[in-house]
Amino acid sequence: MKLILLGPPGAGKGTQARRLMDAHGIPQLSTGDMLRAAVAEGTPLGKMAKEVMDHGDLVSDDIIVGMIAERIDRPDCSNGFILDGFPRSDAQAGALDSMLAERGLALDHVIEMKVIDDVLVERITGRYTCANCGAGYHDTFQQPRKIGVCDECDGTEFKRRADDNEETVRSRLDVYHDQTAPLLPYYRAKGVLREVDGMADIDDVTAQLGAVFNGGN
Ligand code: ADP
Ligand code: AMP
Ligand code: ZN
Repeated sequence: MKLILLGPPGAGKGTQARRLMDAHGIPQLSTGDMLRAAVAEGTPLGKMAKEVMDHGDLVSDDIIVGMIAERIDRPDCSNGFILDGFPRSDAQAGALDSMLAERGLALDHVIEMKVIDDVLVERITGRYTCANCGAGYHDTFQQPRKIGVCDECDGTEFKRRADDNEETVRSRLDVYHDQTAPLLPYYRAKGVLREVDGMADIDDVTAQLGAVFNGGN
């Protein structure tokens, strides 16, 4: 299964992608995670990307498209993949179409995760992850069963993203509405777009996704 989770920052793409990855055995390809790994390693790409990400702007299409093209050719993508945070612009969507066509592949679903902006700000400013395994949490909506201990790996260190502050979030939302939301009609016209109510609680969103894959919605 090849799918795109398309939605604004904080919509729940990463949360659901991790669950889908476990359930379907296909990898989550998050361009944001790839960039943060480059930032952490201090590579030239990471240094350039950090500045752009701290402003909430988009990293250049060429860099992003190159990262995805290299990633989907790895063996773990042979049964499909979940694109999380890509594509984010017309140019990226066009490049993805060409990349898939060259490989004789097609998207199964593009899932729009709908959440209103005020809720997104609340979600992003309360977001944190396990520093060891990357499991996602939230100060209010998704605390670990035992506060301070990761449910998945028993890790006790957690981290927050530099760009998860209210000011940067507002810019990221503007960028989403300007550059990424226009992809929705593009995928709707292709007949692959499905909507889920991302305002519902986490388990409910997972159930809505299951219904999409089973031919509902
Ligand atoms: P995205 O990957 O789309 O930016 P995340 O999956 O990281 O978003 O979710 C953002 C924050 O909101 C996280 O802290 C997560 O725990 C929380 N969250 C995700 N889905 C929901 C939901 N349906 N209801 C409430 N909180 C959620
Ligand atoms: P995310 O983890 O998806 O919230 O992305 C964090 C930041 O990484 C974004 O605000 C952008 O600066 C950058 N980024 C992630 N994915 C892309 C992409 N597909 N195109 C351009 N920039 C991206
Ligand atoms: Zn963990």
